[in-house]
Amino acid sequence: MTTIKLHNTRTRGKEVLDPLNPDDVRLYLCGPTVYDRAHLGNARPVVVFDVLYRLLRHVYGTNHVTYARNFTDVDDKINATALARKEAGAPGTLEELVQERTEETISWYLADMAELGALEPDHMPRATAYIPQMIAMIEDLIAKGHAYADGAGHVLFSVKSYKDYGALSGRSVDDMIAGARVEVADNKRDPMDFVLWKPSTDELPGWDSPWGRGRPGWHIECSAMSHELFGDSFDIHGGGNDLMFPHHENEIAQSCCAHPEGDFAKIWLHNEMLQVEGKKMSKSLGNFFTVRDLLDQGYPGEVIRLVFLQTHYRKPMDWTDKKAKEAEATLRKWRALTAGIEPAPIAAAAVIEALSDDLNTAGALAELHKLSSAETAADLLASARILGLLTDELGAWTQDEDHDLSHYEEKLFEARQLAMETKNFAEVDRLKSTLLDAGVEVRMSKTGVELVPGPAFDASKLDAI
Ligand SMILES: [Zn+2]
Repeated sequence: MTTIKLHNTRTRGKEVLDPLNPDDVRLYLCGPTVYDRAHLGNARPVVVFDVLYRLLRHVYGTNHVTYARNFTDVDDKINATALARKEAGAPGTLEELVQERTEETISWYLADMAELGALEPDHMPRATAYIPQMIAMIEDLIAKGHAYADGAGHVLFSVKSYKDYGALSGRSVDDMIAGARVEVADNKRDPMDFVLWKPSTDELPGWDSPWGRGRPGWHIECSAMSHELFGDSFDIHGGGNDLMFPHHENEIAQSCCAHPEGDFAKIWLHNEMLQVEGKKMSKSLGNFFTVRDLLDQGYPGEVIRLVFLQTHYRKPMDWTDKKAKEAEATLRKWRALTAGIEPAPIAAAAVIEALSDDLNTAGALAELHKLSSAETAADLLASARILGLLTDELGAWTQDEDHDLSHYEEKLFEARQLAMETKNFAEVDRLKSTLLDAGVEVRMSKTGVELVPGPAFDASKLDAI
């Protein structure tokens, strides 16, 4: 069987994946807080984990991998969005508006991630469906001396009660206090203590609990949901490295204190952040894109996916327009080469080998380029599909483009006929250079002109003619 190695944040090295149960390899990815559309950075871990999911299914069998990704559908940001709508005159109670917002955001999210070729996880737990499990876990943490109620509706986790706190990110509690903007509050025994439960007003979403009507903190939900779905220990936990502290440290503290007999997650996988044209994506810089923005601008989901996969997940990824253009040309070429071809029965060994080495997607893509150069189309197709590329689902963007260039062929032919008489070829040269710039191959003969769109064809550039 193929050996998969993954970089484990917890041990800071590559480790051989040795599943707790090879018949059911389990992975958990922290999903979105559903208050707004996913931005490009939110999509990176989804694509990275999708490739891991596909690789695991390839190695262990389609029915021997379980992938869970949650929806955080109770959160102050969601409440704030609903409140803004209510204040703008939207009908319904605040709670109804919260529900409306989470439902629409979840449907956007699923549609956008599908356009990037991400398979749906086996489980997509919503936090609000696991409140009893969260309350039970909090009660257990209190009983074991790891958490305390403040008597005013809050329950806090006592960070000092867990000696390994900070081990994942490799920081001491004192360093974390110094480095983070820790909120000091009267009800905390220690400034690092974090909220497990907090009170809700009558208008806000809330649930009855031993500490009064309230709602859970963010961190407890992943601990409670992963335990409900996977038990005390599972194989892989992932997320962006911005979640490492405090979110993942807090998940580990909660889960390991509630279930000390288990390991929680054995391997922690963190992806690096995403930039746009070399700069941090931010609304103030005007380079903030949601996935939907890019799709609407005409970037096919498959192109976005290929650009993502060109950079190893542990390196910062820079989204540039140039990369997107190149990825588009590559995919056009590969799709043309594999059109009407049946995929080979198995993917190329070199592609699986690259992916098995800590998801070396850049290495796997280099192998695909070799298969393309050798014109081994069936191997290219089977191998690309392990990366979620050249799939039938993502192919629509190249199929609906049967470009009719006859208008331009006539125009160029007439211009040339005229130039033969006037001996002025300026217009012919202008037309030819615009066509070449648009990625069109120009074939001229005595009897006519033939225009063939190449792999880098860009119809928008023909507007200049
Ligand atoms: Zn989480």
